Amino acid sequence: MAQYRITQIEDYGPLVGRERVERIREKARKFKDLRVANFNSTYYGGGVAEMISSLTLLMNSLGLRTEWRVIQGTADFFSITKKMHNALQGGKIDLSGIKKEIFEQVIYENSVRNFLEHDFVIVHDPQPLPLIEHYEKKCPWIWRCHIDLSRPNDEMWEYLRRWIDNYDAVIVSCPEYKHEMKPPQHVFMPAINPFNIKNRQLSDKEIDERLAHYKIPTDLPLVVQISRFDPWKDPEGVVKAFKLARKEVEATLVLLGNFATDDPEGSQIFESLRACQEERILILTKGDDTALVNALQTRASVVLQKSLREGFGLTVAEAMWKSRAVIGGDVGGIRYQIEDGVNGFLVSSVEDAAERIVRLLKDEKLRDEFGKKGRETIREKFLLTRYVEQYLDLFSEFDKSARSRD
Ligand code: UDP
Repeated sequence: MAQYRITQIEDYGPLVGRERVERIREKARKFKDLRVANFNSTYYGGGVAEMISSLTLLMNSLGLRTEWRVIQGTADFFSITKKMHNALQGGKIDLSGIKKEIFEQVIYENSVRNFLEHDFVIVHDPQPLPLIEHYEKKCPWIWRCHIDLSRPNDEMWEYLRRWIDNYDAVIVSCPEYKHEMKPPQHVFMPAINPFNIKNRQLSDKEIDERLAHYKIPTDLPLVVQISRFDPWKDPEGVVKAFKLARKEVEATLVLLGNFATDDPEGSQIFESLRACQEERILILTKGDDTALVNALQTRASVVLQKSLREGFGLTVAEAMWKSRAVIGGDVGGIRYQIEDGVNGFLVSSVEDAAERIVRLLKDEKLRDEFGKKGRETIREKFLLTRYVEQYLDLFSEFDKSARSRD
């Protein structure tokens, strides 16, 4: 039989040092067999599923019995929750009674199907938020919000507050996402798994094979953005910036995207982008091929993440880890990853993005310098070891306060 294995904390030794690995092992020891449940709304497509997938396995390898459950929803449920997601990031919403009824009913039905006998429950993002009202609360419940909460729509926020305030702690991705609420708030920035297929080092042969498979030309430098087809990721702005840049440099643009089951907007955005296709502007939907994501990020001369809002932007960390020169939108969590002009560029307009694409394509030395520094930034701050340790510390805080109450 094949030898299956999952990443062990020791595998991180060469990247973060043995001392850190030992410290994490030690912190996890007292939580052996701790039962942790995670709830979110999609198995794949997007940074949340990406992280839960790796983090739950790493926690299991550390001895915590960590589960991942995905709520089931109807198409109209996900259409409503995507509107809620947009409203939490500042968009408008018409919260009619029927929308609230569908949202709350689907979550109630999920609670009927999910039995919980856990020591911690972690609920990710707003979709499963109301679960908390349907259980007798026997353990700490944590709301892990991955969204940019800096300017939520007021009506949306007021509606969700009645559940948020019942949680025992809330985790947000950046300090400025803290918002008025009852539970204590913690900041955990997202992180990547350097060992999965998306992020591990591929051979040149593997990369060539993946790019050839999708007929991606490599005769000119590649400029790449990999994102769900979502207006906040500004794919149209990327195409415009590329067209401006192309007046001065030759290159091929690849926009690779996928569709998340909890994001029904994707196909409309993709359809409207299709009109932009040309010989040197490729719009591809094969973003579920993680080896292709890796191959493109590794081979690109410039990686863009020109978001207009971004909770964090895992794609930025993924590309920096691959020593790429990255241009990110000057928003949200991207600002914590890219230090403008030091390990990448931050931009606020199509024109700026175009100018930086040209500059980077003309200057290999600058690309190499950003690439080296970018990788170091991720190694120091944005690998899963830091993330899992933050969770262990949070569990410890609860453990201490429970003991002091006993
Ligand atoms: N992703 C992917 N294929 C795609 C588009 C995105 O695998 O076609 C992955 C990407 O590599 C990253 C995640 O989905 O791991 C997106 O996370 P991010 O935080 O950048 O954005 P989100 O989609 O969560 O808003």
